[in-house]
Amino acid sequence: MLLCRNKIAITMAIIITSECINCNACEPECPNNAIYEGGASWRFSDGTKLTEIELEDGTRMDGSLANDPISNDVYYIVPSKCTECIGFHEEPQCASVCPVDCCVPDPDNVEDQETLLAKKAWLHAELV
Ligand code: SF4
Ligand code: SF4
Repeated sequence: MLLCRNKIAITMAIIITSECINCNACEPECPNNAIYEGGASWRFSDGTKLTEIELEDGTRMDGSLANDPISNDVYYIVPSKCTECIGFHEEPQCASVCPVDCCVPDPDNVEDQETLLAKKAWLHAELV
């Protein structure tokens, strides 16, 4: 986690690199069910309370709809479901159990701690 000058904690979603050996150690550790095996479809509703999603254009989609895999070769993380384990654990659990250290911060998905806490509340239908 980085700390920028205005004291806002800057974190990133985690991404799995091509070094993944498909061992499955990370998948059961994710509190948001954000990790999927390569080639497997993902759903907002897996491991969350997201039965329905409101999209940016105002339309609504069923949270249990299957979405295309982000990777077909190695395990992958859905950025919109990754909170870097904030609110559950002190550190990203996938990174802490990965035997080849291929769960790394994703510079393309940078969010501050407040945003990640709000995402956790959104995923699990918690009051904030
Ligand atoms: Fe899941 Fe935590 Fe890894 Fe994100 S950092 S994918 S929430 S285990
Ligand atoms: Fe891949 Fe690491 Fe997860 Fe194993 S723990 S499946 S090597 S990302």
